[in-house]
Amino acid sequence: MSPGRGERVFDGLAVGAGIAIGVAHRHDSRAIVQVRERKIPTAKVRAEQHRVLEAAADAADRMNSLQTQAKRMRGAAGEELGYMLDAYQQMLGGSRLVRGVQKRIATDRINAEAAVMREIGLMAEAFASMDDPYLAARIDDIREVGRRLVESLGKAQETGLEDLPANAVIVADQLSPADTALLDPAQVAGLATMFGGVESHTAIVARSLGLPAVVASADFLSDVKNGDDIIVDGSTGKVIIAPTAATLTKYKRRRMAFLRTQQSLKKLKTVAAVTRDGFRIRLHANIELPAEIDTVLSSGAEGIGLFRSEFMFMNRASLPTEEEQFEELLGVVKKMNGRPVTVRTLDVGADKLGDLVGLKPGPNPALGLRAIRFSLTRRKLLLTQLSAILRVSAHGPVRILLPMVCTVDEVRQVRQIVARLVSRLKRKGVKVADPLPLGIMIEIPGAALSADALAAEADFFAIGTNDLTQYTLAIDRTDDQVAYLYNPLHPAVLRLIQFSAEAASAAGIPVSVCGEMAGDERMTPILLGFGITELSMAPASLPRVKKRILDLNLSAITGRVRRVTSEADPIRLRGLLEELSGAA
Ligand code: PEP
Ligand code: MG
Repeated sequence: MSPGRGERVFDGLAVGAGIAIGVAHRHDSRAIVQVRERKIPTAKVRAEQHRVLEAAADAADRMNSLQTQAKRMRGAAGEELGYMLDAYQQMLGGSRLVRGVQKRIATDRINAEAAVMREIGLMAEAFASMDDPYLAARIDDIREVGRRLVESLGKAQETGLEDLPANAVIVADQLSPADTALLDPAQVAGLATMFGGVESHTAIVARSLGLPAVVASADFLSDVKNGDDIIVDGSTGKVIIAPTAATLTKYKRRRMAFLRTQQSLKKLKTVAAVTRDGFRIRLHANIELPAEIDTVLSSGAEGIGLFRSEFMFMNRASLPTEEEQFEELLGVVKKMNGRPVTVRTLDVGADKLGDLVGLKPGPNPALGLRAIRFSLTRRKLLLTQLSAILRVSAHGPVRILLPMVCTVDEVRQVRQIVARLVSRLKRKGVKVADPLPLGIMIEIPGAALSADALAAEADFFAIGTNDLTQYTLAIDRTDDQVAYLYNPLHPAVLRLIQFSAEAASAAGIPVSVCGEMAGDERMTPILLGFGITELSMAPASLPRVKKRILDLNLSAITGRVRRVTSEADPIRLRGLLEELSGAA
């Protein structure tokens, strides 16, 4: 128990169910990346030296954009910044620093990040001993260049989240989805952040790891230090620092009860998801990383309804090759053992910033070059990914899913590319499933409203309610300031889901919901009432949704579901929805 200031309780948004009881570990997302020294074999020296050159070019590139900003600044400050950036760029361009780091990698046989830190340390020492006060003051500049070089080298590889105490509860201003994906649930008890939204990718990753998580808990960070006892209640959104003995006992009991319920739900693993009146629903899982496949299997999922492939591109220093992608996907397909695997092509942009793919965020990243738009401008990247997916289709049922589709032309373009790739692979004697289902995400309001036209081009729909809600209501899904307005049950969103589901069924193509709404058992009746027969969600949510389906009498609620989308009065609508979510 922490002595001194007593128990402090903060409220935030509950994004990952469960209760974490552990010790706080502060993580500063803006702090200098911590560098871990690794010995490398001789064979790796050249590759490591090459990384330094690439990182120096990347860091210089980023300084170029700062230079442009400096030029726009008026007066002495802009001029001073300009001089400083010039000096930094000189230090990076084929300079003593870069050459020194490369030499150190070869002589000391250490990783590039550690070599930068050693070299910077030596240079700083040399400058510090100079009599000239101007030169002595350059130490900070050298350190800054070193920091930037390490950042460019590792992107998110060394995150400061590697050496954690047992039972760590990560507390941070914010956590990137890539950093969250690296957390090991065996070591981390939960997380709490000051910023973030319920449907942000950070929250989604936390849920899929089964981590109790609270986001948007304002102000709590200044009240917590490393090693403090902390409770994160991811079911109610409470963060409790230095809990009293009584609070601790209460939460230990709640945690046990939560785990017992989870355990009893696990017994439903092999039970088919059929409503009381006999409607069969397919429950699939969403995954971010191939490593999650064991959790998928133990949840009883009948397939993978959404594999967010962009996570295979994060936390690495270079792009995955076709062979690497093929191997990763093959592992997933083999483990799923005949169950369908839906692979979504790269969905970078907005809160999934693809540093690695060289995506420069435009003035409004959520509305800019992202997802399928980006893939269609970077053909090589798309061809590599599609080729890996096509090759893997010979080993099990695979479906291709395109993110953020807005026009029929986008689907047609990809279909042509796939057709050309299939012929090329076949000519080379490579086996592929032909035809391979090509589906689209319905997550842009314009796509939902033209779902009838899109249904003529696509083989299946997956409704992405996270982005559909974001774009329909003009609410940034990651912005905690407007999180209270984020409402997938807004009549506009519900009508778009219903229209898309009806268009799919009129065209005779399958339609699923794979946004977070699919994993919320309170939404199950309404989605099934719209005619959705497939739901894809974080594996941890699957047993609860299945239980809801087993208890549901779908025919009994059909009339009320119809009334929901014609009800314009928000108060009556809320009443109807509450009635429905508890409905038999
Ligand atoms: C969605 O937008 O609902 C979705 C499933 O895609 P993502 O959350 O990856 O944007
Ligand atoms: Mg989306």
